[in-house]
Amino acid sequence: MNITIIGTGYVGLVTGACFAELGNDVTCVDIDKRKIDLLKQGKSPIYEPGIEDLIRRNATARRLHFTTNLTTAIKASKVIFIAVGTPSLEDGRADLSQVEAAAEAIGAALGHYAVIVNKSTVPIGTSDLVARRIREHYKGEFDVVSNPEFLREGSALSDFMQPDRVVIGDGSERARTTMKVLYDQLDAPLLFTDVKTAEMIKYASNAFLATQISYINSVAKICEAVGADVTLVANGMRLDKRIGRRAFLDAGVGYGGSCFPKDVRALIRIAHENDVHFDILDAVEATNTYQKLSVIPKLKAALGTLNGKRITLWGLAFKPRTDDIREAPALTIARSLHEFGAHIKAFDPVAEKLAKEQLPYLTTAPDPLEAVKGADALVVVTEWNEFSAIDPVKIAKAMRGKVVVDGRNALDPTACKKAGLTYIGIGRP
Ligand code: NAD
Repeated sequence: MNITIIGTGYVGLVTGACFAELGNDVTCVDIDKRKIDLLKQGKSPIYEPGIEDLIRRNATARRLHFTTNLTTAIKASKVIFIAVGTPSLEDGRADLSQVEAAAEAIGAALGHYAVIVNKSTVPIGTSDLVARRIREHYKGEFDVVSNPEFLREGSALSDFMQPDRVVIGDGSERARTTMKVLYDQLDAPLLFTDVKTAEMIKYASNAFLATQISYINSVAKICEAVGADVTLVANGMRLDKRIGRRAFLDAGVGYGGSCFPKDVRALIRIAHENDVHFDILDAVEATNTYQKLSVIPKLKAALGTLNGKRITLWGLAFKPRTDDIREAPALTIARSLHEFGAHIKAFDPVAEKLAKEQLPYLTTAPDPLEAVKGADALVVVTEWNEFSAIDPVKIAKAMRGKVVVDGRNALDPTACKKAGLTYIGIGRP
């Protein structure tokens, strides 16, 4: 099938490369010329394991193309995906300006029937808005379909190729048939719904996952007060089939990234606009805001003052296996430590460059052990696998102080204590 993808961010690029891998002819379009130039050279503008190989293989096979020119891209396209950003506005609503601009550009360039697929996460009713914007410029036939994306950065390729489900909110029988042909290539349950339901499934899913995180972080606080271990509590909960083995119950320094924070805020706004009191979500957001800073009182209690102290952050990305730092807890923690007069050194395998753009006072090191050299305290902010593989004896030797605040419960507390470190986890006795 001939496909155009508008937006080559984390979602658009993965969607484009994966559909090409499945044998489709895909053109990815972006208004950012820098990104398109990089992609044309076989380089990925984002860090995502495996993406560069996939891009190169499919570009060489002439199934994957990159351009800034939407008009030529969509000339023969049967399906056009919108995968542009929908960041938060100040009041929490989703900013739809990129979606509207993409829809208008489609309308201006379209000259044949096509299925327009909204993959961006958008408020309920946005598909109608997209259709209106297209119709302002194009009077012919087309359909707008909602097809929310559930991939996780860091495992995006396998999530796309082996999804738990594919949700398709379709506008017509014709669009449904096209989408079915496209996704039949994947071995995944297809859930067909009306458009608004599909849009709602995405927000309801993300907000529910975020709720699990804030829930376990509150449980962790009680665990700290009473001397229980939240990691074991979570294991015990997961064995309940109604909760599930993959439930989001890892206590830590809170959720970040480009989805959960903005999607929780957007659903709160959607609820308000519809006179629904979704108090749970207000609490989820407030809990997460406090949780991001929960390491600060732990550090203060252990170090006395933060002023002049050398603090090392392990991890800057909002989660491992990505370079995405949007709303990452590390940024909030670093800003707070800086305000308290601490000197911050950090190590992250892939996110340092982006983080330094936002935190000019941040110094970095070439490896995790170099980063802790002479530190008064270490804070684990992102649970990259390589951190838990480091011998705590080496950490203790390199540091000036002894304090380790494990914001992701990623290290072995017993091994840390044995190495002479003062281990402080989240919800661990
Ligand atoms: P992103 O910011 O990484 O990428 C968006 C891209 O769209 C950018 O490259 C930008 O230059 C481009 N763009 C903007 N307007 C354009 C236009 N008019 N024409 C062409 N290109 C344009 O965003 P993302 O993280 O890929 O997210 C995209 C959408 O998918 C969002 O709605 C997000 O909520 C949703 N989503 C993201 C994830 C994720 O893990 N990142 C997962 C599921 C859903």
